[in-house]
Amino acid sequence: MQLKTFCGHQDIRALTNYSQARTPALIGRILIRLGSVVSLVGFLFVCAPTASAQDQSPRARLEALGLDTARVGRVTAHFASTDRERAVELALLADDAATFFERELDIAFPFGVAALGPEQWFSDIPVIPYAIPWPSMPDRLIFMPSSLSEGLLIRGEDALEDRRRVDFVLLHEYGHLLAKAHLRPRSDRDYLPVSWFEELLANYFAYAYLHEAHGEWTEAARAAWVEELRRFTPPVLSLDWSFMNDLPPPVLSETYGWYQFLLNLRAAELYETHGRDLFQALKDELSWEAAEGWTTESVLSDLEEIAPGFEAWVEDLKSGAYLRRYEE
Ligand SMILES: [Zn+2]
Repeated sequence: MQLKTFCGHQDIRALTNYSQARTPALIGRILIRLGSVVSLVGFLFVCAPTASAQDQSPRARLEALGLDTARVGRVTAHFASTDRERAVELALLADDAATFFERELDIAFPFGVAALGPEQWFSDIPVIPYAIPWPSMPDRLIFMPSSLSEGLLIRGEDALEDRRRVDFVLLHEYGHLLAKAHLRPRSDRDYLPVSWFEELLANYFAYAYLHEAHGEWTEAARAAWVEELRRFTPPVLSLDWSFMNDLPPPVLSETYGWYQFLLNLRAAELYETHGRDLFQALKDELSWEAAEGWTTESVLSDLEEIAPGFEAWVEDLKSGAYLRRYEE
C-alpha cells in the first residue's frame, strides 16, 4: 500500500511501538519497494543502523555525514554535492516562508534544512524508511528527501504534483517549528499532547504561506486533497487516533495519510475565514501554559469559541459527511 503524506514524528512513534522497535533484536534493514511505492509492510521491520548512532543527536548524526552546507537567508542547507540544486531549492522555499512569517508575525529564527539521499537517510523514528520528512525540534532542523524520483511521497504520475506534495510537507514541518515558537515558546515539550491539533496548527502555518505566496498552488493542492479524501475511507472516523494502534501497517499508512489530508482541508477552510488573525487569537485565547492537560474535547470546546464551526466539522467527520463541505 502506498504511503502518501506522512508527517514523521510523535504520532508515528506512538503508532509503531517505537520503544520496541529500537531493541537490538529487531535491528535490520528491509525496504520493500514496488516501483515507486514503498510498502508499509516494511514499516515495522526497518530499523536504525546501530544503537550507538541512535544515541547521537540528529544534529550530530547529520554532521557525521560530512555534507556540504550553504546559507540561504535564515536557512542553512545541508546536502551532498550531487544534491546541491534540490537542497538550495528547498532552502529558498523555506526562507521565503520565513520572510513571510517574520513580516506577518514577527517570528524569526535560524533553522536548517537537510536534503538527504537514500544512502544518507536516517530518522528519529528508526522504523521509518526513506523518505518521510521530519523535524528535529530542539535542533530546529528539518530532514527532507533530496530525491524527487523515489521515496514515500513520490507517485511518479505528475512531476509537478510530486514536487508540490514534498514541498508542502517541508512547509508543514516548518509549521511545527513556527507553532512552537509563536504559541508556546517556553514549553519544553516538542509537541502538543493532542496530536490532531498539533498537526492542524502545522498545516495552518503552511497553508497561510501558500495562500499568500502561491495562489495557483493553493488551488491545485485543495483539489488534490479532496481527491485523496474521496479515494479512501478510514476504518474509524474520529479525532481520537488511539484506534490506529490496532491497524495493520498498510491500513495505518492510508489512514494516517487520510487524516493529514483532512486536516490540510480544515486548515484551508479556517484560513479562508479567519486568515492571519487566527494566529493571534489562538495565542491570546488558548491556555498554553496548561497545554499538558488538554484533551480533544477541551481543545474542541475552546476552538468553538474562537472559530465557530469546529463542532459541526467533527460531526461531519463522525457521520461520514465530510466531503459535502468541499462539493459545490
Ligand atoms: Zn506534522
